[in-house]
Amino acid sequence: MTNSDALSATELAELRRRYRVERERRVRPDGARQYLAADARFGYYADDPYAGETPGREPLRDRVDVAVVGGGFGGILAGARLRQRGIGRVRVVEKGGDFGGTWYWNRYPGIHCDVESHVYLPLLDETGYVPEWKYAPGEEIRRHAVRISEKFDLYADALFSTSVTSLTWDETSEAWIVTTDRGDEFRATYVVTATGTLSELKLPGIPGIEDFKGHTFHTSRWDYAYTGGTPDGGLTGLSGKRVGVVGTGATGIQVVPKLAEDAGHLYVFQRTPSTVDVRANRRTTAQDVGADHDGWARERRDNFLRVVSGESAEEDLVADRWTSSAGLLEKLLPSFRRPADRKAFEAAYEVTDGTKMNEIRARVERIVIDADTAEKLKPWYRYACKRPTFSDLYLQAFNLDNVTLVDTADTHGIERMTERGVVVGGTEYALDCLILATGFSVGTSGVHSGQLPVHGRGGVQLRHAWQKEGPRTLHGFTSNGFPNLIQLGGTQSASSVNYTHVLDEHAVHAAALVAGAEARGAVIEPSREAEDAWIAVLAGNAPDHEWFHAECTPGYYNGEGRGRPNGPTAYPHGAYAFHDLLKRWREESMDEVLQDRTSARP
Ligand code: NDP
Repeated sequence: MTNSDALSATELAELRRRYRVERERRVRPDGARQYLAADARFGYYADDPYAGETPGREPLRDRVDVAVVGGGFGGILAGARLRQRGIGRVRVVEKGGDFGGTWYWNRYPGIHCDVESHVYLPLLDETGYVPEWKYAPGEEIRRHAVRISEKFDLYADALFSTSVTSLTWDETSEAWIVTTDRGDEFRATYVVTATGTLSELKLPGIPGIEDFKGHTFHTSRWDYAYTGGTPDGGLTGLSGKRVGVVGTGATGIQVVPKLAEDAGHLYVFQRTPSTVDVRANRRTTAQDVGADHDGWARERRDNFLRVVSGESAEEDLVADRWTSSAGLLEKLLPSFRRPADRKAFEAAYEVTDGTKMNEIRARVERIVIDADTAEKLKPWYRYACKRPTFSDLYLQAFNLDNVTLVDTADTHGIERMTERGVVVGGTEYALDCLILATGFSVGTSGVHSGQLPVHGRGGVQLRHAWQKEGPRTLHGFTSNGFPNLIQLGGTQSASSVNYTHVLDEHAVHAAALVAGAEARGAVIEPSREAEDAWIAVLAGNAPDHEWFHAECTPGYYNGEGRGRPNGPTAYPHGAYAFHDLLKRWREESMDEVLQDRTSARP
């Protein structure tokens, strides 16, 4: 961390003061309860606009080797890695009409992934595919999900437009009974849950939301029948229309420039501005990304993880704004670093943070012509308080005559909705269409919320067991009392900004567990002691970042300003170290979770 652009003590004190004011303006007493789920009377918000007519089929009553719940990248990678291990019948059950998960549902105009395509798209070495853009459009990523699924023959047994409704361990057949909303009741020796962390869309609990008579939808269910066009734009259905968009997170930032191109008038309802850094998307060649030898993509992906995890790396291959700001991500994703002099480290960190945020605010001022609008677009919080975003089009959109920024911070978001539109600060904005870019219930998997009941040994429901004792796992994947159940990408493991990399490492692990159990004729189940030992690892080394998030503007990183969940939820040394630990454990200790089929654990 460099102090070269050191801010003075006065400047830092002023930043702290301003950040506190901005936080206080925004904290709401109802915290996360302000949001509505897209169910019951709002269930239509979650309908699948892409699947077309769902063909009927007979309910299944058979047995497969592995049931994978979810056909996003987690489920696809689990399937691929299981196939590589020679596992025969792998049945992916997916709510959407095809594979893709996030990239199936999110097809909004302007959609791209802001993590470099050459590290984000998984299994590039295995599929021989080399993306042509530094940051890939959503449709290319969705097609890659299909490519992997085809290559590893996952379509043969997949069930689409089908939701798993329960998982019940049957001692007699030593298998999970899987039921679905299509009447299926089949058995699976193993279950891998890959239900995603951003799969439940959320709606703003704006008073009167149901009164609005105009058109409305969530960005993850884009209504092209209404807007016309494609993810590339050309939204001719919006010409002459008054369009509102709520939300200026990573989705809002991508969608606004496309809406601005075609809407008669666009109102952007902002509550907290995002940090919008340079993106610099560009075409790339295979040569640019070193795609000239086997394993190039794995090397690049590992290098990216090293850099963003704060590990030492000889080179920064990706060299973008994620990697150059990596040092500022440590409050978000724990790293391996444990500086000897914590006080000096935090002081230097604050200077770097303030310098970066000043740069982000200066960028707004440089780009946005209207001074009042520019002022409102400036983010006043520390870098890791909100998910950083990157765009070279978003801020520029506010220079167009047909775009108006409506700041809603003083009223904690939109005040209310009427038949005609939305009300902010006593002013009614009449709208033909209101688009909700309000995100997802982050981290909510049906397994944890109870929406997908999982009954293990003795009929014990996982959610109830965890409510009593808090989450109990070994490495985040397996739990005592729930044999042959592997949870992917969940709590008590480690994450990264390149989430597909994390999912792939988890998939490799899941496949190794299944292959190990098959080879040994065993069931997979950790002891309570192994869970205790893992929880001790998490708790004993957890970095203290609570104070940082307690001073942030509200958002899903800090429980909407009301604190983070209790208990250690992540491996404290980051994803790079976690993957290493898993690899060593597979080589040396995996037998500890492989139990004889007949000996149920106490
Ligand atoms: P977010 O949850 O990040 O953003 C939701 C937005 O809605 C926020 O700006 C929020 O304001 C605003 N909002 C919520 N309620 C109200 C209200 N009542 N009135 C006004 N504004 C409101 O959702 P996104 O869809 O943007 O992102 C979801 C996830 O998807 C993120 O984790 C992101 O990382 C990921 N993503 C990744 C992309 C990529 O390129 N890799 C692209 C797009 C998304 P406030 O901040 O004040 O709460």
